[in-house]
Amino acid sequence: MSHISADTSWMNTGNCADQHPSIFFPSDGVGVERAKKLCEGCVSQNPCLEYALVNRVEHGVWGGASERQRRRILKARRQSLLQETSVQIS
Ligand code: SF4
Repeated sequence: MSHISADTSWMNTGNCADQHPSIFFPSDGVGVERAKKLCEGCVSQNPCLEYALVNRVEHGVWGGASERQRRRILKARRQSLLQETSVQIS
């Protein structure tokens, strides 16, 4: 199931607002670290990360998190949800 978030107003206030988008779609680990550095202290970090998670954005650095980090967050959330569900059922 896909949830497309329509509110992207946070993009206008992010540290990346005046950066070239390609910075946030790096091709190597050095580029990922450079992008994550720009995300540090960004006022839009939370909505940016949630946007990427909810919309299952697979590529790039969003909310200070790499693709791998977002996959881990989603996996942890799924496991947490499963545990909550099993507690409610039992
Ligand atoms: S968290 Fe990073 S990618 Fe997201 S808006 Fe801020 S600077 Fe841009």
